[in-house]
This record gives sequence, structure tokens and C-alpha cells, in this order.
Amino acid sequence: MAVKVIRYGEKRRVICNICGSLLEYEKGDAEVVQTGMNDFSHEIVCPNCQEKILVRV
Ligand SMILES: [Zn+2]
Repeated sequence: MAVKVIRYGEKRRVICNICGSLLEYEKGDAEVVQTGMNDFSHEIVCPNCQEKILVRV
């Protein structure tokens, strides 16, 4: 039996480490940012404190 994705598309949650808000986001909400020569990451903006938060998508 193959592995099934049972929570595909689920919203991700992250806690803002600046203001402590629990944020819910989707993959499409995250922006790709370059963090190094060949390093890329994703970030979202906390709607509460406007700080950028690095996330995994
Ligand atoms: Zn925040």
C-alpha cells in the first residue's frame, strides 16, 4: 500500500517570535527570499507586528 497524503494543502501554522501571535498561512502566502549565495528561504509578514518571519513551506 502506498503512502497517502492525507493533509495535503493544509494551512501551516507558525508562532511569531516577535509578538507571539499564532499565525496561519498557506504556501502561496510565503515569499521567496534569498538568504545567501545559494540559499533561499520563505518568509511571511506577521499581520500583528509587521515583522518578517522565516517559514518552511
Ligand atoms: Zn508578530
